[in-house]
Amino acid sequence: MVQGERSHIAIIGAGIVGLAFAVALNALDKEHKFAIDLYEATSELVEIGAGINVWPLTLSILKEIGLYETLIPFFDHYPDLERRIVCGLRKGDEKNGFHVYDVMNEGGGLRIHRADFQRGLVQHLPLSESNKVHINTPCTFHLNHCLIDYTRDGSEDGRIKLHFDGKPSKECDVVIGADGIHSTVRQLFLSRLPNPKRYEKYHKPVWSGLVAYRGLVSREDLEETYPGHRALTHPGLIYTGKTRYVTMYPVSGGKFINVVAVTRDTSNNTGVWEGPWKVEVTQEELFHTYQGFDEEVMALIHCIKRPTKWALHALDHLDIYSKQQVFLMGDAAHAMLPHLGAGATVGIEDAYILASMLTHQSTSRPLDLEKIKLISTIYNMVLVPHATHMSKLTIETGDLLDLTAPGFDLERYKLGDKIPMETLVNTFRQVERNWTWSSSDPKEDRRKVENLLESWNGPT
Ligand SMILES: Cc1cc2nc3c(=O)[nH]c(=O)nc-3n(C[C@H](O)[C@H](O)[C@H](O)COP(=O)(O)OP(=O)(O)OC[C@H]3O[C@@H](n4cnc5c(N)ncnc54)[C@H](O)[C@@H]3O)c2cc1C
Repeated sequence: MVQGERSHIAIIGAGIVGLAFAVALNALDKEHKFAIDLYEATSELVEIGAGINVWPLTLSILKEIGLYETLIPFFDHYPDLERRIVCGLRKGDEKNGFHVYDVMNEGGGLRIHRADFQRGLVQHLPLSESNKVHINTPCTFHLNHCLIDYTRDGSEDGRIKLHFDGKPSKECDVVIGADGIHSTVRQLFLSRLPNPKRYEKYHKPVWSGLVAYRGLVSREDLEETYPGHRALTHPGLIYTGKTRYVTMYPVSGGKFINVVAVTRDTSNNTGVWEGPWKVEVTQEELFHTYQGFDEEVMALIHCIKRPTKWALHALDHLDIYSKQQVFLMGDAAHAMLPHLGAGATVGIEDAYILASMLTHQSTSRPLDLEKIKLISTIYNMVLVPHATHMSKLTIETGDLLDLTAPGFDLERYKLGDKIPMETLVNTFRQVERNWTWSSSDPKEDRRKVENLLESWNGPT
């Protein structure tokens, strides 16, 4: 690299996390140390799925990287740190379901349509034609670029050559694998570690035994079908039942209600999901699965015109996300189950922490290799345990929400059984405890990595 030149960072994948990393790097790169190439396999950005939860923690990062004003109009309520309901928990697998417990935290959960979130991020990309952001780190966006391999130029430490399907190869100094749960970068990265056999089981995600039915309900339809339905006015509700639950919250300023209905798939005990991960299903399948549930649940199902079924997969807990100039982030590193609505948030934390380290005052232009190795070591030290903890918390929360968690005296009950109030309250208090991370301060981890960068000379 020529002295004084910017280091070139290639981001593979323009999902929420890859976009957030580009925006964060530009916002923090005040000394203009970097240039970005953002490579996306698809020919246009289409965001699948409907709603997404954004937490006070996420918001604090979004604020720091300049997205606050853009996103405010799309949240379901004005973001502040008032103590609010995250979701009301009801016993739902009975005809006459009932309220059990309100999960609260500072700030509640902010709900946003994924498309609005993604559009906000794209508007803040530092593209040359952008008039929305100040450009510290110029970004070139390459659609239709599906990465199939990367190789080293000469030595182990040399520049990295990226190989794309049907496109010319490109070079870079640092690779960010933000290419989602099926990540090609992850598979290549793991197969090049000194002990690749040990990491084979992390190449592919694992089916959790759960499926999620998803759909959007229009407020108008619900008002007509079930006037006064509590989902019309509530910030978020979960109808719990043995082995299945239904969660819902408003998106797009309340125009729609996002519904996710999770169930254990007992028809398949092979542990392996065969066929596509996402299929369209009939309303009858949903009615059948949630037979016997509260009539409010049935009314919601009635309003889901085109439900889809998703096989819920996650990654086993990987113990390394980075080595030298390759970094995995978001679902590529730690795809987790959706019960806490945390996957994207943890990915945005990866993006923020890495952008903070790369742009730290102690890094040079261009970045020297010893520094990048140190950054990679700290990235693993801080983010691997954090994401692993979050992923375990999501598994536990799923078990609590579908009333199968061990240690809460739930074993003896079947779908639709009456369960003592005390047992339910104890179970749901644990759900609340599992959500306290959502209002923690992301700057603590930033300070931690910066202290390490300043004080530590790396592994010996
Ligand atoms: C039902 C459900 C509900 C959820 N709810 C929430 C929630 O409320 N809050 C929350 O924080 N999280 C939630 N999540 C998790 C969240 O959706 C994911 O964690 C997040 O979207 C991951 O973002 P990503 O950018 O890492 O990956 P992705 O969104 O998968 O993006 C990866 C991108 O990389 C591209 N790509 C893939 N391969 C290549 C390649 N070889 N070359 C170039 N580009 C490539 C893809 O086309 C894609 O654009 C939920 C998940 C599910 C399933």
